[in-house]
Amino acid sequence: SAVDRFLYAMRLHDDQLEDISARFQAEMKKGLSAESNAAAAVKMLPTHVRSTPDGSERGQFLALDLGGSKFKVLQVKVREGMGIRKGGVEMEEKIYPIPKELLIGRGTELFDHVSESLKDFLQEKNINLEKTHPLAFTFSFPCEQPTLNQGLLLSWSKNFRLRGLQGKDVVQSLKGAIERTGGMNVDVLSMVNDTVATMMTCGFDDQRCEVGLIIGTGTNACYMEALRHVDLVEGDEGQMCVNTEWGGFGDDGALNEYITEFDRDVDAASNNPGKQIFEKMVSGMYLGELVRLVVLKMAKVGLLFDGFVSDALRTKGKITTANVANTRDILTGLGLTPSQDDCIAVQHVSTIVSFRSSNLVAACLSAILTRIKKNRSLRTLTITVGVDGTVYKTHPQYPKRLHKVVRRLLPESHVRFVLSDSGSSKGAALVAAVAQRLASRRKQ
Ligand code: BGC
Ligand code: MG
Repeated sequence: SAVDRFLYAMRLHDDQLEDISARFQAEMKKGLSAESNAAAAVKMLPTHVRSTPDGSERGQFLALDLGGSKFKVLQVKVREGMGIRKGGVEMEEKIYPIPKELLIGRGTELFDHVSESLKDFLQEKNINLEKTHPLAFTFSFPCEQPTLNQGLLLSWSKNFRLRGLQGKDVVQSLKGAIERTGGMNVDVLSMVNDTVATMMTCGFDDQRCEVGLIIGTGTNACYMEALRHVDLVEGDEGQMCVNTEWGGFGDDGALNEYITEFDRDVDAASNNPGKQIFEKMVSGMYLGELVRLVVLKMAKVGLLFDGFVSDALRTKGKITTANVANTRDILTGLGLTPSQDDCIAVQHVSTIVSFRSSNLVAACLSAILTRIKKNRSLRTLTITVGVDGTVYKTHPQYPKRLHKVVRRLLPESHVRFVLSDSGSSKGAALVAAVAQRLASRRKQ
């Protein structure tokens, strides 16, 4: 069809996906090695999480989940020896909207909002303010972590662009804000990326879960790496979870062959031009905008709407999801008068855009799985991937397509995908619980 011809560059064949996968494997190596890490586009950040849960964790934690589609405050109870589905992890949560202007203001103001929300939560849930509460923090941005409860912010991504925090320890910023708010006793035990939390949540039920994947507003993955390959952390025995920050894949030009004019336009108009190139081809924050730019161009060259272009269609952000389920309503809402053929064509555009996203994720995920398999000298790998994120959860075709391509790229492996609902919130508490378990074992 005309759409297929127009978007041929977005339709990636298996040999291209294999090429992308090989490039990503090279990027992972670069990020892990001490010599090349500083210049690496894919940061491969050590997380200091050395073990997935073994089911003996327990405790009660406060948790904060910041940087996903919603900011949440939670109370999480972890019960020993019971799986997630059997009620082993119970939680109460409250969503606190973040006023838009706070996303682009001063970092301290955002953290004041976070700590005031925490206090509101404690009061509303009648949680004893005198006692000291352990707190687990999920923070979904790239951070260098010298220890489990420190996180030096490397850069903002998605729709966050705050002043005054880059290079700073966000755990300190959080503690400072909690002190300013006053009247609370909390002990920040751990800070984790949402991918890590998702892997841990899934790992509480499934010992084989050693990969965490987010396809939401942003995208990223983590996995258990052999410590001997993690140059930045001493020690050669055992494993450590590495936060790949794969959203940065392509920031050094590694994906240039696959980048279209639409990707370039999305990047140029974004909060962080030149950064998070892979994320901009994959994640929910950008898919709708890609669809809009394609539709706009097609209209301009006369392939849609008899060549008519509305002001709304020319406006950034007017299409917010690639899942254009009700195409006619969306197009009419943009001041257009679509024919039946126009609707079918636009639907097809959104399918190609979201298909490319799942294909790219499949390529990089299979690079990670291939790496794990080589590390362990296995002929076949049996592994579980914990997944969370709005795109994966709400796009009807997305999971099926992703699973299919991963299995096609890795025919000899057995890959199980488990949706880890609210994984990024629950898992923070599990990381804290594992840390407590390991600490108490050392004391004994
Ligand atoms: C961030 C990652 C995060 C991902 C998913 C990206 O923009 O850099 O740290 O895991 O979004 O939330
Ligand atoms: Mg090492």
